[in-house]
Amino acid sequence: MVQLPFQRAIRGRLFWFVADPAHEGARAWRYIEDGMILIRNGLITAVGEAAVLERQMPAGIEVVHGGRNLVMPGFIDPHIHIPQTQVIASYGAQLIDWLNRYTFVEEQRFANPAHARTNATFLMDTLLLNGTTTAVAFGSVHPVSVEAFLAEADRRNARMVAGKVMMDRNAPPALLDTPEQGYEDTKALIEHWHGRGRQMCAIAPRFAITSSPTQLEAAGALAKEFPECLIETHLAENHAEIALVRELYPDCCDYTDVYDHFGLLGPKSLFGHCVHLGPRERARLEESGSVAVHCPTSNLFLGSGLFDPAGLRTAIATDIGAGTSYSMLATLNEAYKVQQLQGRSLSPMAAFFAITLGNARAIGLESRIGSFAPGREADLVMLDACATSTMAHRMARAQSLDDELFVLMTLGDDRAVAATYLMGERVVPSSIGRLS
Ligand SMILES: [Zn+2]
Repeated sequence: MVQLPFQRAIRGRLFWFVADPAHEGARAWRYIEDGMILIRNGLITAVGEAAVLERQMPAGIEVVHGGRNLVMPGFIDPHIHIPQTQVIASYGAQLIDWLNRYTFVEEQRFANPAHARTNATFLMDTLLLNGTTTAVAFGSVHPVSVEAFLAEADRRNARMVAGKVMMDRNAPPALLDTPEQGYEDTKALIEHWHGRGRQMCAIAPRFAITSSPTQLEAAGALAKEFPECLIETHLAENHAEIALVRELYPDCCDYTDVYDHFGLLGPKSLFGHCVHLGPRERARLEESGSVAVHCPTSNLFLGSGLFDPAGLRTAIATDIGAGTSYSMLATLNEAYKVQQLQGRSLSPMAAFFAITLGNARAIGLESRIGSFAPGREADLVMLDACATSTMAHRMARAQSLDDELFVLMTLGDDRAVAATYLMGERVVPSSIGRLS
């Protein structure tokens, strides 16, 4: 039987970014009231006015109608933890205590491949139900946590990035590798998974407290050997953490200098949190092109502090499970409040740029995802700003696209995600409620 090319058209209210609104203002986005996206074999072949594209469309292809929903590129979450889906909402602790009391206990369960697989199914369903079509994830120390996650992503054809955490000290023995083992395991994951289908691997030294200098050196060696891979870690989240790093690395002038010393700064490096940075650290992060990943629900939940984006290349993420919501919409809601507390306002346009094209740029995937253009992968979400009675009641008074976006980011969560598409195919969740 001849395999015909898969084709589909999505018609509706289209909205996407082509540039950063901070620099380009109203030229940064496109909104088409009656637009159409043509998709062939998972890739966008054309996007524009429906009245125009309809005439070019091959006869007989399926047209999906978005109705009142806003059709946007799928959301990108550049910092989540695979083994923390069951420590979300754990009471009463700040970072170090939270790790020891809850997280390091939970992560030990990921030595069991069956648990890793069940968790991966739950996590993938939950991300997709929240409109998140790409995430950059930390596994546990066990390679199987990453293998299970990427295998599940591969099965759904979702573009995901993951790295097993390297950690060789200051954690329970069952969660420790060695510099050699961390290097070998990461290398094996990259060789097997990086570029397999849509899957990608990251180099993931957890943070300076749980990695010895020898292990950070090994991470630096991996970064040189695999320059195509992202590096993900944590930086300057909490005062007690920073004090401990100072003790552990007395020869480095500050926390950022620790990673710099081992060759871990650069445009492929994602530093979670960056809440408490000195001026030298900000300048060095900026100069090296490194990305500061703001995790607002996590920073508020653990009482870590208020992120100041000034002068930094930034991204925005949930940090599940210290973060309290899988929803990038709920994450924007908290990001807005974090900036309000510092006398600034996050505009709806800046916010929605951040979770689509902005995060795509931050993880170096802007030529594939995060926007609508011919050749891009057709990952998209349909957002319903009237999803709840509270939202519908408010929307009756909305005057503009900015109003609609601000309602979505202030009142929205997974309920506002009417549908998620991966490579032009609608996602059908398979497992919600099965995890015990
Ligand atoms: Zn984290």
